[in-house]
Amino acid sequence: GKKIVLAARPEGMPTAEHLQEERLEVPRPGEGEMLLRTLYLSLDPYMRGRMSAAKSYAAPVEIGGVMEGATVCEVVESRLDGYQPGEYVLAGAGWQTHAVSNGKGVRKLDPAKASLTTALGVMGMPGFTAYAGLLELGQPKSGETVVVSAASGAVGQVVGQIARLKGCRVVGIAGADDKCAYVTDELGFDAAVNYKSEDFRDRLAEACPDGIDVYFENVGGKVLAAVLPNLNEFSRMPVCGLIAHYNDTSAPEGPDRLPGFMRTVLAKRVMVRGFIQFDFAPLMPDFVRDMSGWLADGSVRYREDVVQGLENAVDAFQGLLEGRNRGKLIVQVGED
Ligand code: NDP
Repeated sequence: GKKIVLAARPEGMPTAEHLQEERLEVPRPGEGEMLLRTLYLSLDPYMRGRMSAAKSYAAPVEIGGVMEGATVCEVVESRLDGYQPGEYVLAGAGWQTHAVSNGKGVRKLDPAKASLTTALGVMGMPGFTAYAGLLELGQPKSGETVVVSAASGAVGQVVGQIARLKGCRVVGIAGADDKCAYVTDELGFDAAVNYKSEDFRDRLAEACPDGIDVYFENVGGKVLAAVLPNLNEFSRMPVCGLIAHYNDTSAPEGPDRLPGFMRTVLAKRVMVRGFIQFDFAPLMPDFVRDMSGWLADGSVRYREDVVQGLENAVDAFQGLLEGRNRGKLIVQVGED
């Protein structure tokens, strides 16, 4: 087998120098354990945070340690009650082909019910993030305007579709014309704006003639700056992610924009609230019920970007931080 370990903490974009592939001696399960073989590894922006020693809501991966990550695995050998070889599970095996588990934090998957990869995307952590952040903090009401950034990605595509189901006008912001076309033509967003276009600010304002009632923040940077003047009184801003800043190595140059931001928050009485999806764990059963229904009746659709081979995980992860992915990014590590 093989594994990818954190060999050094990156400054800026992580590369193969920081994330090194090593041979993995396939472990043997002890009593009360099982051996898992990884089929799919989820790649998510939070992993950039785990590579850093900066204090955060979760501990960093240690130098020399296997990179963390959610996985879909097949049980190969089991000395653990309740698990049989050939069964599929959602686990946290990380960036490696095999892992031993004692069953903690592991959940069985039924491939007859839903395609296995959805456990990492629309039915998994990113889908739940969209659901909980939008509904609990965004509080979208019919007729309101909801704007979401990183709109075509794992979280954003779900945010926009749920907002549509709640009767909102939905505007996506994304970094490529084909991503914008995807969310309007395939997912039913009312409008989408490419933040790399020259007239981005004007086009965003045009797409939101009644202002913005909910801004689901995934990005930060110039996207946030363009959203601010359009926020309505009593608007809500769930702060989910700030991916534009994850590779930052120093504070940005230029004027201090913080006073202007705070002036908007005060004058418009904006509710700004950061969250990490696990804060809303009690909503998980509601999410599973609602999302299963929406997928079954076709009212929520999704796109996954499946890259072949663990050896391509580093390149794919760089792509995530550069906008190369098209939908939820997943690495196929083994054949299912
Ligand atoms: P995506 O599938 O959306 O992939 C990341 C996307 O971010 C890229 O495709 C790119 O899209 C965009 N992006 C990358 N760099 C920049 C940049 N410099 N400026 C603007 N956009 C950029 O990832 P996820 O849906 O998994 O994650 C989206 C956000 O949600 C992230 O910020 C992530 O950290 C956050 N998140 C937070 C959670 C929480 O609990 N709070 C849980 C899960 C995710 P484009 O081409 O459109 O720029």
